[in-house]
Amino acid sequence: MTYRLALPNKGRLQQPTATLLKQAGLGYEKTDRALAVPVRNMDLEALFVRTDDVCEFVADGVADLGITGIDLLSESGTNLEIIAKLGYGHCRLAAAVPKASPIASLEDLAGARIATSHPVTTQAFFADREIPITTVPLSGSVEVAPKLDIADAIVDLVSSGSTMLINGLRPIADIIESEAVLVGRPGTLAKTNGTIAQVVLMMQSVVAARRKRYIMMNAPTTAVADVESIIPGFEAPTVIPLAHEGMVAIHSVVDTDELWRVLPRLREAGASGILVLPIDQLIQ
Ligand code: AMP
Repeated sequence: MTYRLALPNKGRLQQPTATLLKQAGLGYEKTDRALAVPVRNMDLEALFVRTDDVCEFVADGVADLGITGIDLLSESGTNLEIIAKLGYGHCRLAAAVPKASPIASLEDLAGARIATSHPVTTQAFFADREIPITTVPLSGSVEVAPKLDIADAIVDLVSSGSTMLINGLRPIADIIESEAVLVGRPGTLAKTNGTIAQVVLMMQSVVAARRKRYIMMNAPTTAVADVESIIPGFEAPTVIPLAHEGMVAIHSVVDTDELWRVLPRLREAGASGILVLPIDQLIQ
């Protein structure tokens, strides 16, 4: 049985998604016209659709898995499950008002008109907090709506926040945090045969590896305990004797975010020849 994976055909998530799949050994040859192409190494077909439509295709059963943003999953109103967070496409959906507006908090938005390309998520967010608002659904250029006086506030996607600043807007609250995710219908992993589980494992192994580095160093035997306390890792480090007595090589895996803290401490503890290497795939 051939399974289908719905992927963004263009836009911000297209390239990083193609890179992830390639690194996971799930590459494909995409031609401009093809809607669906076979994926290497698996009984799987990549189906190229608009990022906004990915959830619909999976919910309808046209595809078994899909890659899209958490914001679009929320907006789709489908009951799909997040199978894995993929670690790219980070952004947040934020509420903002013109700099000079007296509105300072979410509660101050009671009665406001809010322009947004995410009306479903926005409505649900404010309904949960019992703050009455009306949405002005727009598909683009949301940030100019207050200037045109068609809205008092906006709810829009931001990553750095610079577009909001340039447009004279002041963020007041985050609505949701988003990143790219692998989605499926509830129970997909349990209901399907091993192919889907294999696809998920391969993708997760790349995502996990991107957050880690392989670290190797030499150290005097007397420093091993200190070094180990600096790099606890997820398992004990590998300690290998060197030709020179009293010296060992130590190998371990460290969080990329921890490196800046770990490296100077390792040197202080007596480690030398420290090498930091990328990892292609990691299965814990
Ligand atoms: P597209 O409109 O096809 O370029 O894709 C938009 C999707 O990319 C959004 O729904 C988000 O999930 C994601 N994304 C990541 N960063 C941003 C950003 N700074 N602005 C808008 N979308 C972003």
